[in-house]
Amino acid sequence: RRAHLVPATFTDFREASDLNTNSAEALPISVKNITKTYGPVHALDDVSLEVKSGEFLTLLGPSGSGKTTLLMVLAGFTRPDCGSLQFGDREVIRTPPHLREVGMTFQSYALFPHMTVAGNVGYPLRLRKTPKRELEERVEQALETVQLGGFGDRRIDQLSGGQKQRVAVARAIVFEPRILLMDEPLSALDKKLRDQMQIELRHLHEKLGMTTVYVTHDQREALTMSDRIAVVNHGRIMQLASPRDLYERPENRFVADFIGDSTFLNVTRDGDQIRYGDMVLRHSAPAPQTGNLLLMIRPERITLSTNGPVEGANNFDAIATEVVYQGDSFLLHARLADGNRIALRGAMLGANITTLPKVDDQLTLSIAAEDTVLIDGSEA
Ligand code: ADP
Ligand code: MG
Repeated sequence: RRAHLVPATFTDFREASDLNTNSAEALPISVKNITKTYGPVHALDDVSLEVKSGEFLTLLGPSGSGKTTLLMVLAGFTRPDCGSLQFGDREVIRTPPHLREVGMTFQSYALFPHMTVAGNVGYPLRLRKTPKRELEERVEQALETVQLGGFGDRRIDQLSGGQKQRVAVARAIVFEPRILLMDEPLSALDKKLRDQMQIELRHLHEKLGMTTVYVTHDQREALTMSDRIAVVNHGRIMQLASPRDLYERPENRFVADFIGDSTFLNVTRDGDQIRYGDMVLRHSAPAPQTGNLLLMIRPERITLSTNGPVEGANNFDAIATEVVYQGDSFLLHARLADGNRIALRGAMLGANITTLPKVDDQLTLSIAAEDTVLIDGSEA
């Protein structure tokens, strides 16, 4: 059983949960072969996806990739051309939005400007004809959950961006939906507040435990918050994996490019060996079967070696072409003997600026076998 919307002052969750009338388990979501076209545009192109019960899953992709469309299909506001959608073992593709028990925050906050905070948060309960006393109790609980206790009488235009966002979240969770959908909830906030709200929303998810599908175009936000991430492009899922697997083992060039920075070098297959020019690469994970093989190099996974090649690693001779001090780290651009360029990011650690390499320095760049990642470079 999941925890319920209880103010922090409640210590006995069992007693508190008796206040709730529709206590329910989180639900898994099963999306099968969903397609949605707008004229010639494939907003969703045969999307299949399983979200586990209680999971925090993020849809990550560039603008126009189909994220909002998929969320709208889950909520029931958009009817797909074909495909199936199950919540638990119930097919819901024909179920109207208000019967799906789904809470949602929209890309624009979509608050009612003429209502108070409590008016906004209570709206889903009024739709459900919740009795007045219970409604008031639940609204206050939801507001306390998003740390806006006592703000019920405020007008929406008296709130900051972050507070408005919290009101939108409170409205989405007030009727204890079994599924929570959030469409780029933090994109309008400045960086500091966004970082803080990411952690808060993640804590809220841990507390409430509802199955959550979250949308963002910000890869760092996705890595920070998610149990798993589905990378979306042109209405298709390019890869669905944990943050760590996506970052360290991207399956294709799009994912490798979209998440984190990387340098890509063309490599060739020679029997069992993978070569970069004359150099036989050491790599711990198998190379994908493809005619278009790329070596993906993350800038922070390169070691700058000042006393020659590192044993057991892949070593590249290079010349520094640019060195940029960036406070907590430094960025170095280097040119390999064949003219290819590599970017490296180093931690400042104890080093100070006088020990940084200088332009035209001869360097050895070393990449450990486990950081030598080979990906399919074919365009998707
Ligand atoms: P995202 O949320 O990832 O930015 P959307 O799901 O909003 O992307 O849009 C995906 C694609 O579908 C885009 O090309 C967009 O222009 C198109 N699209 C979305 N909604 C409509 C609509 N109501 N009418 C026509 N085209 C739409
Ligand atoms: Mg969108």
